[in-house]
Amino acid sequence: MKMRFEALAESNVRQVLPILEENKRSELFGKNVFNDEKMQQFLTEEAYEKVQLAVFSGKKIDRKIANQVAEGMKAWALSMGATHYTHWFQPLTGSTAEKHDAFFDLKPDGSAIEKFGGSQLVQQEPDASSFPSGGIRNTFEARGYTAWDPTSPAFIYKTTLCVPTIFVAYTGEALDNKAPLLRALHAVDQAATGVAQYFDKNVRKVHATLGWEQEYFLVDKALAQSRPDILMTGRTLVGNYAAKGQQLDDHYFGVIPSRALSFMSALEKQCMVLGIPVKTRHNEVAPNQFEVAPVFEEANLSVDHNLLLMDVMEEVADVHDFKVLFHEKPFAGINGSGKHNNWSLATDTGVNLLRPGSTPMKNLQFLTFFVNTIKAVDNYEELLRSSIASASNDHRLGANEAPPSIISIFIGKQLAGVLDELEGVSKGKLSPQEKTELKLNVVGKIPEILLDNTDRNRTSPFAFTGNKFEMRGVGSKMNCAKPMTILNTIVAKQLTDFKKEVDALIDKKNLKKDEAVFNVLREYIKTSKRIRFDGDGYSFDWQEEARRRKLSNNKNTPEALHVLTSKESLALFESMQVMNEVELKAHQEVELDNYVFHLQIEGRIFGELVYNHVVPAAIRYQNLLLENVHGLKEVYGAAHKKVCEPQLNMIEQIGEHLTEAKKLTDAMIAVKKRTDNMGDIAKKAKTYGDTIKPYFEKIREHVDALERLISDDLWPLTKYRELLFVK
Ligand code: ADP
Ligand code: MG
Repeated sequence: MKMRFEALAESNVRQVLPILEENKRSELFGKNVFNDEKMQQFLTEEAYEKVQLAVFSGKKIDRKIANQVAEGMKAWALSMGATHYTHWFQPLTGSTAEKHDAFFDLKPDGSAIEKFGGSQLVQQEPDASSFPSGGIRNTFEARGYTAWDPTSPAFIYKTTLCVPTIFVAYTGEALDNKAPLLRALHAVDQAATGVAQYFDKNVRKVHATLGWEQEYFLVDKALAQSRPDILMTGRTLVGNYAAKGQQLDDHYFGVIPSRALSFMSALEKQCMVLGIPVKTRHNEVAPNQFEVAPVFEEANLSVDHNLLLMDVMEEVADVHDFKVLFHEKPFAGINGSGKHNNWSLATDTGVNLLRPGSTPMKNLQFLTFFVNTIKAVDNYEELLRSSIASASNDHRLGANEAPPSIISIFIGKQLAGVLDELEGVSKGKLSPQEKTELKLNVVGKIPEILLDNTDRNRTSPFAFTGNKFEMRGVGSKMNCAKPMTILNTIVAKQLTDFKKEVDALIDKKNLKKDEAVFNVLREYIKTSKRIRFDGDGYSFDWQEEARRRKLSNNKNTPEALHVLTSKESLALFESMQVMNEVELKAHQEVELDNYVFHLQIEGRIFGELVYNHVVPAAIRYQNLLLENVHGLKEVYGAAHKKVCEPQLNMIEQIGEHLTEAKKLTDAMIAVKKRTDNMGDIAKKAKTYGDTIKPYFEKIREHVDALERLISDDLWPLTKYRELLFVK
């Protein structure tokens, strides 16, 4: 490993001042995407219509049409200079995978052709035996295949045509994050369309919308590469806080450093070409921390775009001699990174169902979706918490910078007032006077209320922000498909139940539609109160209060993942046809495996850091001090003791920390070895979390103390000051 001074010297601080570009961004937008415009140009009318239908209604595309689409796609891709194609998919590792095949093929007579037909488009069988499957493939002795997802358009990345696909076992079980997401989106479409039709008969489809906000750190590449922990785990395992952190608040929304700005400009250009509608960029709270956010899109596409963005960011950063860190907590002592998921539901008639409208009826529609979302989260808060569980996000949830690990909803004083009034609505039939009062004075006032609704609560994990809910606990590294699958599934279930209840009141009790809706909403408002919390989510009092309210507070990943396979969860996922028992168990197992792998690697790197970097540096410095003491003894004789007091004291202090660091590392590694032999993955994950991880903090204390004691020129690891402030 490179020493830090070498790394610093090598750190190529390129100061390329960005210049105004000739191209308008909007002209580049979607250049590399097989979007509607290109489909119309390259597909037969029949194929174009069939693809549209498949996107709208999920109808299957037959082989003949698939061949036509493949022909059109190929013609376009070749005209753009693409040479390869790949099925782009999302294995359960959390990132994306691809295997490139050349368009080029040989005919039996030896002449060359460009081959890409319907069968290559629709289905592929990647040699994917090393992707996690949670035992699905072993159980069924079947392989997995990837299948085209026509709802997310193909695109060209570098020289490869990428076809977004799901990844499933031959027996149909999902081996990826996309297949369950698509099923959840289908479920929420069906349920929400049924409910939206109470208010507008013309609604045929409802899609979930997602706008993520991606936070990240930029670190100089050479400096990042000099640290084994950043290289292998994406975070610093040790490191003394820099003298200056984020306390001056001089980074947040500050001037973006020019080197970072050149990176961002290049990134945005790539995003435009790939059709990722990035719109905002700014500095975040911590030094070297930034955020990028797009205009929201249909949730499946938005998830794909976020995954693609993370890939593109790594590549662009590399060219700009940066390493981009997506880890949720790369540095101790300063803020970590998250990925807020802004979520709503929109109809094919162009209405955002979580935006209050101009008429009382439209506002009743808003209230319906608003209250049902609250009720869904109340019913399944623990499941929602499980969707954002990961080893790296454990550092963040509940660490007083991100939302706590208790799920609650913030809606603001004004809307809480509206719900309070609705709660007072009398049961059954409403008198004409009551109806007018309700419509004019309660429901009718919502838009005005929201206009000056400025109160926001930054500590809330699930906040209503005017026309959408914002889920704030999602980790910066995470695939948004996981939280989006669960959120949309629970809302689908809730809307399905709601419709049943309303229909029953209309049919059996002879209530008018709006009366029935009011009646059911009133009950939901009453029964979902515990999930609403407007106070300080970081406070200790809230933990106590949440316990009284019987809200879950799962502090780490193994605990949080338990609920995935509970009876209630199974019933929910099966009734919404999102996942079956085999899939749920498999996904849970893979998540637990991921957790263990993560901590296993960290444990190994701790060993390497302590034995190969820190201990040798400490000994070297101790020797230097000893040499000095010997020298002084020669000069001062018996009087040397007084002169050498500081040195002797430091030798002792170094000795103490060195002994402790070494002892703790030895002990950690011994436990780790025993744990690695455990067969049961749940037990193993629990031991890693409860027994091994606490060693990490203790080891770190002594290593950081050594960093403070040892001469700067002998310390082998690049320091926080250098990582965070070298521009
Ligand atoms: P903030 O104050 O949280 O930064 P913004 O209005 O800037 O709020 O929006 C942040 C994110 O919310 C953006 O990614 C945006 O695309 C997304 N967003 C806005 N409206 C919706 C919506 N209806 N559905 C989903 N996401 C949305
Ligand atoms: Mg936000």
